[in-house]
Amino acid sequence: MPEIEKQLAWYRTWQRRGIYAFISLVPATALTLWASGGTVLAAPLVIVVGGSIFALFSVAYFKVLRFRCPRCAECFTTKNRSGRSCANCGLPAYGSAPKESKPG
Ligand SMILES: [Zn+2]
Repeated sequence: MPEIEKQLAWYRTWQRRGIYAFISLVPATALTLWASGGTVLAAPLVIVVGGSIFALFSVAYFKVLRFRCPRCAECFTTKNRSGRSCANCGLPAYGSAPKESKPG
């Protein structure tokens, strides 16, 4: 696997983790509250589950935000909030990446 494709795969993985954490935060917390309702453990369980998912979302968000484009070494998502392509050089994060140019 070429180096650019490896780095883009890492980027896509963390982007997906962030999206899944964002989507599952409220349902997982509500499900935990519902399942443990009426017991002494309800509040700590909700805090642990909600806090863990929020921590995963935060880590994924900052990893995606700080990701450097493997082609131009600029911030990948600074101007382009969707994060589907490099804000500077347009390298697509999804689909087939263009071939690395060989020196010479
Ligand atoms: Zn770029």
